[in-house]
Parts: sequence; structure tokens; C-alpha cells
Amino acid sequence: MRKQIAAANWKMNLTYQQAEKLLDEILDARIMPKPHQEVIFAVPYPYLLLTRSEVEEEYHYSASAQNCHHKKSGAFTGEVSAEMLHSVGIQYCIVGHSERREYQHEDGAMLATKINLCIENEIVPIFCCGEPLSIREAGTQNEYVAKQLEESLFHLDAETVSTIIIAYEPVWAIGTGKTASTAQAQEMHQYLRGVLANKFGAEAANEIPILYGGSVKASNAEELFSSPDVDGGLVGGASMVAEEFIEIIKALK
Ligand code: PEP
Repeated sequence: MRKQIAAANWKMNLTYQQAEKLLDEILDARIMPKPHQEVIFAVPYPYLLLTRSEVEEEYHYSASAQNCHHKKSGAFTGEVSAEMLHSVGIQYCIVGHSERREYQHEDGAMLATKINLCIENEIVPIFCCGEPLSIREAGTQNEYVAKQLEESLFHLDAETVSTIIIAYEPVWAIGTGKTASTAQAQEMHQYLRGVLANKFGAEAANEIPILYGGSVKASNAEELFSSPDVDGGLVGGASMVAEEFIEIIKALK
């Protein structure tokens, strides 16, 4: 079975003490993932090692960075490279979250270089894509999201692309409380899997987990994840409420 994944994205929230408390509350639920399931915490850089040490050994959950720089190393004050993340044992990194596309003006070509650096450093990129409201209203969301995949992933070979994770996150659903309907999510995920199959072959496309992101919560996770092409969720707000995220983990197929 394809990997089913609950990934938390804390964004720029929580103090160290709050982060420790939240992790403790979630870990206290003692949910052991099945072999085909993964639980990932994308946390701010200063909390990566705390998270890794708390979750990795006993629970087999993982810590993830929320970003890495698009250059290998050098005079980029304040930035963090994929190589640095690898050197402290981090195995996942979000690439191309819509907030970074919008506020840091990250474009498809830049994201392609980040994907390459992650892969070179044995980090699994969690590649985010998704359309803004105006595109959804115009009905051109499929072409828009396919182009995002084309710009940042189509230079890879089939074997490599089958190791990454994709998160479809319609921008109009992120942090807004509006969720794509289960049918809308399944429709887009199925379409994206078709785009990947056309480019890389069905075998590779079938291996790629496609997560849904956009106001996932305890009350809608099970229904969203029940769709055949929705392989879990990338969760912002609800991942910072222990009881919510615990239920989201339990909702994985
Ligand atoms: C996100 O941070 O990627 C996200 C989907 O946020 P939220 O769950 O709060 O909509």
C-alpha cells in the first residue's frame, strides 16, 4: 500500500516550551504507526533536534524542516541549507509552501533547485502545490497545478520522483476554515496522479503519496483520507491542538 501520512506544519508558531508540551501531549496518546503510515512534524528550525529526539526512536515519527535554501552553501546570512539539515539527521523538508511562494516569491525554477538539493542530501521533499481562489473560480485549477508540477518536478527521473511526497493545498483552503470537499480533493489528486503517470509512468505515479492540505481537522480528516487518491494530510492549525492532531493521525487509512 502507498504510504499514508499525517504531517503537521507548525509554521512560525509556538515557543520552545509550548512545542515541548504539545509534543508530549501528542506522544502520550501512544499511537504507533502501521508500516505503511508515517507521522511527520514540520517544525521551526530551533525545534528540529528536540522534535527528532522526542519522536524518532520510540514512536518512529519524523521531524521535518519547513524550508531549505536554494543554494548549496555560502554567503546567505540567516539561511539554512539542505546539507545542514542532513548533517543533523533531518529526513524531510517542505518545499514550495504557498506562503513561501507568496511572501518569499519562490518560483517554480527556484523550487526545482531546492528539490534537487534535498534529494542530493537524502532528504524527502514534501512538495506543495495548489491554486489560488481566482484560478479555482475561473475553473483552470487543473492546468495551473499541473504547471507547478511541470516546473519543479519534471526534470527528475521516474525512480527519483517516486521517492518524494506531494501535498495538494488549494490556497483558498489554507488557514481559512474552508476545506475542499472530499470530491474536489479526490478529483484533483486523481488528476495529478494522471499527470505524473503520463510523464513518469503508472508505477512511479502510484508510489507517490499525495497529501491534502487546507483546513484539515479531526472532524473532516477521516472522510477526506477515505478517498482512494488522498494519502493523508499536511495540517497547519489543527496540528497545534493535541486532541485534533491525535484524531487526524488515527484517521489515516
Ligand atoms: C498548511 O499549513 O499547510 C495548512 C494546510 O494549514 P491549515 O491546515 O491551517 O489550513
